[in-house]
Amino acid sequence: MRLSKSLVPTLREDPADAEALSHKLMLRAGLVRQLGAGIYVYLPLGQRVIDKICAIIREEMNAIGGQEITMPVIHPAEIWRESGRWDAIGEEMFRLKDRAGRDLCLGMTHEEVVAWLAAREIRSYRDLPQVWYQIQTKERDEARPRSGVLRTREFLMKDAYTLDRDEAGLGRAYDAQAGAYRRIFDRCGIAYHVVQSDPGMMGGLGSHEFMAPSAAGEDEIAICASCGYAANVELAQGRPHLPQFPSWTREDVATPGVRTIAEVADFLKVDPRLTVKSLLYVAPTAGAVLALVRGDHALHERKLARALGEEARPAHPEEVVMHLGAPVGSIGPVGARVPVLADESLRDGSYVVGANREGVHTRGVRLGSDAPVRFVDLHVVAAGEACMKCGDALAVERVIEVGNIFKLGAKYSTPLHAMFLDEAGKEQPIVMGSYGIGPARIAAAAVEQLADADGIVWPWAIAPFHVHIVLVSVRDAAQAAAATEIYEACRARGLEAVLDDRDERPGVKFKDADLLGVPVRVTVGNALTKEGVVEVRSRRTRREARVPKDRVVDEIGSLRTQE
Ligand code: ATP
Ligand code: MG
Repeated sequence: MRLSKSLVPTLREDPADAEALSHKLMLRAGLVRQLGAGIYVYLPLGQRVIDKICAIIREEMNAIGGQEITMPVIHPAEIWRESGRWDAIGEEMFRLKDRAGRDLCLGMTHEEVVAWLAAREIRSYRDLPQVWYQIQTKERDEARPRSGVLRTREFLMKDAYTLDRDEAGLGRAYDAQAGAYRRIFDRCGIAYHVVQSDPGMMGGLGSHEFMAPSAAGEDEIAICASCGYAANVELAQGRPHLPQFPSWTREDVATPGVRTIAEVADFLKVDPRLTVKSLLYVAPTAGAVLALVRGDHALHERKLARALGEEARPAHPEEVVMHLGAPVGSIGPVGARVPVLADESLRDGSYVVGANREGVHTRGVRLGSDAPVRFVDLHVVAAGEACMKCGDALAVERVIEVGNIFKLGAKYSTPLHAMFLDEAGKEQPIVMGSYGIGPARIAAAAVEQLADADGIVWPWAIAPFHVHIVLVSVRDAAQAAAATEIYEACRARGLEAVLDDRDERPGVKFKDADLLGVPVRVTVGNALTKEGVVEVRSRRTRREARVPKDRVVDEIGSLRTQE
């Protein structure tokens, strides 16, 4: 590719509205352009990166017996009604009507279509197992499209589905997918953790997420460097350090005008870890429930939902007064006429809690004995807490979810009648798994993890090109001829080269080469005229070698094997 004839619109400055590093650099390097909120155009270099990632994904999916298919983007509502997700999913689903007034939606994911297909094409145990996958566009009306291509409303997903006759088969299919995922992310050159994840409200038999560490991520994971425990904070458990408990007796104390934990701790001159945060929630079937976490902790709403078996929302201020007789800031578990859930870390010791009277707190309350509670894990694990498995300190890291794997069981096959006949001629539901990867997130994670102050540093395997040839002076015939010769030699040896033959100042060309992040830069300039050599420079290490022009391709080859 010759830059003089290509669409590679690089930008000198950081775009004003971009925050994440990958967002800035992908715009500046001319990989993508934003058409609307969460809607992107992939320009030639961005497209090449995505194509490379998809090629790796295809190879690894095919290697474990995956069969590529393409399912439609537009779906009739019926299959989503049958699975129950037409109603269960809210505004994230794009819905539309056809000319006859029939409901349709744009596919957010394809479990329903797979189950529909399996219901028609799978007859007996002899037809199983199956592994189907596609790399295809998904549409989701995300609440907060942000961070460039990390969270968009239209995006490419590799989604694979496995069909098995039983849980043992599903276990094998799941492990094969997990292995393929590791190879995919290793080959793409990104760092990642495999973590336990929340299989969601609707059951499911287990799931893992593949998380790439990055400040731009929207997820957090807790990991233990000693024993390898790793989980999404949605379910990660840790044992917080306990405070020194004073030997106080239970008594009410006036706390006029005091509302927040910080104010309570300040007013009573106690460690915030000796206070309890009382939060009233309302769930559709459980009704009002009081949830307690330690003063310095945050409650994780997913953990509360798991404990309740349904999603709950924070109560409105009027509901708080109605159920507990006191406003937010003065409520607590003692005498509460609603069920109380308390975080596990509150089992021992005594605490300061709201007294359910405005401006009054009670000190020295023991949960369980002074107020009936059910102990469950509710708090968001923080860095430094003890690992539940080995006791060592947990670290908490911000990550990008690049992929996930999910044991579905019969969740979709039963409602969509995806059945098979076993050896005894008995009808059984097909046992399904589903497995997703976001190619754009892999690209963005690579940018996030490897970029330096000058721009992107692509791993070889997913770089848009391998070699970036800078022709310093387009008007110098000898330089131009040598650059073209090297460009052709690269192509002949299977190295993808981009030739900067634009009539630009050398400084501009070098800056763009650094920004684009192609692994090797070859500079054809004055050194050629004077000494008959060109410069071969690694983008990552910045090491430079001067080599005769007919040795360039060999030099690049050895750089590639080193890196
Ligand atoms: P998230 O929790 O980040 O919203 P998800 O759980 O909704 O992700 P899945 O529905 O399981 O994700 O999709 C599988 C993969 O597709 C994800 O692991 C991610 O790599 C990618 N993906 C999901 N949503 C988006 C999006 N809005 N933009 C880009 N990629 C996405
Ligand atoms: Mg999502």
